[in-house]
Amino acid sequence: MSDTRTVRAARKAQVDSFSCVACGCCVPSCPRKAISIFKGMFATVDTELCVGCGKCAKACPAGFITVSEAAQ
Ligand code: SF4
Ligand code: SF4
Repeated sequence: MSDTRTVRAARKAQVDSFSCVACGCCVPSCPRKAISIFKGMFATVDTELCVGCGKCAKACPAGFITVSEAAQ
């Protein structure tokens, strides 16, 4: 039998929430609608929806979004 306990890694976006100014530029860039602005304070990413395409990282004018491998 095959071992199903393999560790999967996937690319996910992550917002620097301390630096984010909640401008909202990244929100419409996401084809998965994974980004929302939390209480008008900073952007958050729904990692269940995020597929790591990186469009949001390009959309943030200040570079506050990074996309990297994250263990699931
Ligand atoms: S990496 Fe792609 S799917 Fe994930 S939040 Fe950014 S734009 Fe959306
Ligand atoms: S574009 Fe950048 S600064 Fe603006 S809400 Fe998104 S992460 Fe925050």
